[in-house]
Amino acid sequence: MPADATLSRLGLWLRAHRRFIQAGQWGIVLVYAVLLIVPAMLPLPAAESQLFSSMAGIAQFVFWGVWWPGVIVSVLLLGRSWCGLFCPEGMLTEWASGHGRGRRIPAWLKWPGWPLVGFVATTVYGQLISVYQYPQPALLILGGSTLAAMLVGYLYGRNKRVWCRYLCPVSGVFGLLARLAPLHYAVDRQAWESSTTRKTIPINCAPLIDIRRMEGASLCHQCGRCAGQRDAVQLACRPFNREISRLRPDQAQPWEVLLLLYGMIGVAIGAFQWSASSTFVTAKQAVAGWLIEHEAGLFLLDDDVPWWLLTHYPSLNDSFCWLDGAMIVGYIALVGSLLGSWLWFWLGVSARALQPEWRSRRLQLAYCLTPLAGTGLILGLSATSLSLLRGMGLMLPWKGVAQLALLGLGLLWSMRLFWLQAAGAGQVRRGQAMLLVMPAWAAIVLCWWQFLQS
Ligand code: SF4
Repeated sequence: MPADATLSRLGLWLRAHRRFIQAGQWGIVLVYAVLLIVPAMLPLPAAESQLFSSMAGIAQFVFWGVWWPGVIVSVLLLGRSWCGLFCPEGMLTEWASGHGRGRRIPAWLKWPGWPLVGFVATTVYGQLISVYQYPQPALLILGGSTLAAMLVGYLYGRNKRVWCRYLCPVSGVFGLLARLAPLHYAVDRQAWESSTTRKTIPINCAPLIDIRRMEGASLCHQCGRCAGQRDAVQLACRPFNREISRLRPDQAQPWEVLLLLYGMIGVAIGAFQWSASSTFVTAKQAVAGWLIEHEAGLFLLDDDVPWWLLTHYPSLNDSFCWLDGAMIVGYIALVGSLLGSWLWFWLGVSARALQPEWRSRRLQLAYCLTPLAGTGLILGLSATSLSLLRGMGLMLPWKGVAQLALLGLGLLWSMRLFWLQAAGAGQVRRGQAMLLVMPAWAAIVLCWWQFLQS
């Protein structure tokens, strides 16, 4: 059977087996709840304890070493199937929406900047309270997000995923990565409009998509509920680069580009990098020395701060003072804004080489950085799990090569995408544009290279 027919049948199977999928989703909710809640209720393991000798260590490895990097890889390969078929938060918000008030969605909630604000806020806050290291912060951030999702579901929409569509802190990231995925639900608009199917069963598209007009994979949760609708929708395969290389100016969204440049690249690099940065340590020592010398603002060196504001585990000799917190926020903000603006500038210079309509062209070209941003997130998150494994005494001789290969893959993929995007401009202009965007790529690669060497 040809691959297309198999995929199409898979989509129809998903549509026909909602109850089976829901049972699996409740199972994931249970695992998620146990991994989040149980470690936070237990005493913290001693500093010298082995990773897998405590529930906290197991949960830490599963969440940050396997779960999140795995979800990012899955979105790159399978689109947002994670959201539609497995995500516990999506499942719970939709369930709450089925039992809630069913109010109209207010205009403020549809503001397109929420995914950027949510991603930046949770990333920075996660660094301040050491979400990757301790179970209570993980419960606070992930559990808090789940409760907020349920509350939004309870208040707005009926059987919908209003949270996932507008507010989820990672929905923007997943939406960008899904644009690269080969798996998607293809809609044949002509077939839809000319369908002679008399009776069409209405579909509940939980993330509120106008399916008839759906052109990309960015918003679709790939739940399969619309598969086969009007003989016009089917699960299908496409080349990795198709959606972004054919992106029209009217499809490029400024908020999505801001999230990509300043959030997924800038803030993410700052957040992963600060703890190993010698510049950060030097600057902090200099400021602390100045405060002591001038006997000014000494309260900033006080580290008796609640754990939900700043990391505070005195028994493990791990506590942040107010100065630490301020410096972490300042460092991430500086790296995020400088790097994001650097990329924005060179994308503009490059876009000018392609055509006079360079402003809209710049937005289109920015999407070509998506593979590099995605591989960067995988590098940053997997570094946590690799260091956990090394802490257990495991030798990982292939680690450096694998990380460099991943970084190289992201770069080459981005370059290929850029080349395809610039098609139609003539070989000379295309080559010029490619050369002019090199400083943008170089900055990202250099930052990740530094991170890998630390
Ligand atoms: S368009 Fe909506 S109903 Fe169809 S697969 Fe995507 S999320 Fe599900």
